[in-house]
Amino acid sequence: MARDLAPAHDLLRFVDAAPSPHHAVAEAAARLVAAGSVEVDHRAPFAAEGRRHLRHGGTLVAWVAPTAIRQDTVLHLVGAHTDSPGLRIKPNPAADTLGLRRLGVEVYGGALLNSWLDRDLGIAGRVTVRTAEGPAGHLVRLDDEPLRIPQLAIHLDREVNERGLVLNRQHHLVPLWGHLDSTTTEDLLRTRLAAAAAAAPEQVVAWDLSLHPLEPGRLVGIDNAFVSSARLDNLLSCHAATSALTTAPERADRIAVVVLFDHEEVGSASDRGADGAFLAGILERIWLTLGGDRRGFLRALHAGWCVSADGAHATHPSYPDRHEPSHRIALNGGVVLKQNANQRYATDDATAAPVLATCDRLGLRAQWFVTRSDLACGSTIGPLTAAALGIPTVDLGAPQLAMHSAREICGTDDVADLGRLLSGLLAEDLSPVER
Ligand SMILES: [Zn+2]
Repeated sequence: MARDLAPAHDLLRFVDAAPSPHHAVAEAAARLVAAGSVEVDHRAPFAAEGRRHLRHGGTLVAWVAPTAIRQDTVLHLVGAHTDSPGLRIKPNPAADTLGLRRLGVEVYGGALLNSWLDRDLGIAGRVTVRTAEGPAGHLVRLDDEPLRIPQLAIHLDREVNERGLVLNRQHHLVPLWGHLDSTTTEDLLRTRLAAAAAAAPEQVVAWDLSLHPLEPGRLVGIDNAFVSSARLDNLLSCHAATSALTTAPERADRIAVVVLFDHEEVGSASDRGADGAFLAGILERIWLTLGGDRRGFLRALHAGWCVSADGAHATHPSYPDRHEPSHRIALNGGVVLKQNANQRYATDDATAAPVLATCDRLGLRAQWFVTRSDLACGSTIGPLTAAALGIPTVDLGAPQLAMHSAREICGTDDVADLGRLLSGLLAEDLSPVER
């Protein structure tokens, strides 16, 4: 059967428009607006019926709600995360040396540090500027004067291929930006940011800026088998979830919610992260605004259902011993259900059942991922959301290789499959499962 390339091409447009969590949320919001969603401000009272969404920094909550709560209304959630591991620019950004301009960076999350070397890097994120009406945030993207972190030549590091590359986060990851002159590096950055934000340099107060590889994503391999791109973890799931919500029907018995969280890669403990009060507060406000009460809200969570969508490790062909031998995960092999006895993933038999039923109905394949028993298991927003809300939750996602590299790879068919699965889950009648 001919490969359906359209979802992967649309994913690449999404990823390339989303070099930072702030941009990811803006791109998702733009797509939701195009599908009829109305943006509301979470800092003010908001209407909740119909298609709505709100943003808080790099976090977005979007929903499709009926006009009123009924006895049988439940909450169906799909969650993912907008952030990816990488490098963030420090508040005092100058790290100049030897007549060269360099920008000081912090490592954000569990990045594969080597993957950031020898690539052309842009700057993107949010800058806050001072205005007469108070501070205002602007999205900025500086791609025209790339930075670069050059690796040490092999002649000066003869054993690097045998011993492995060791990078000191403070000394070896400082990107090069140009030659020093009479302008300080901080003033230069401020000038560039101000121009991008249509402001004066002295108005720039502070920033939340990350670096991003400049080469665009593309399909690779024979028959376009694979997607090669930055930030597949987890913009792949953000893209699929956003697309699924745009086609989710308005139903009297359900509030369908998509939440794209920031800060997953650093533990999710923040005012907008999965390990915090934000989502619960927004959900309860939606519920009360639609005329429901708190007792009904808690029931709707307990009778509801949450999908935590995040990348899954495909079995690496060069390192099969790093993977559980009875749980081989194939690229283009179908959606991956992730389970862990120690609750690093939220999936259990009961929450997996409706997913498997939907896969059957849609003709989709499913694979089960389990980490080797002698390796530590990763985690997701799944257990955090399940714990915070008391909502039954399943962890799943598309298989990929090179997770947390600046450039990751996944299967082209899996992009289409994840989209179909999430759309199916948000659209259909889920039969109640025994819990
Ligand atoms: Zn992830």
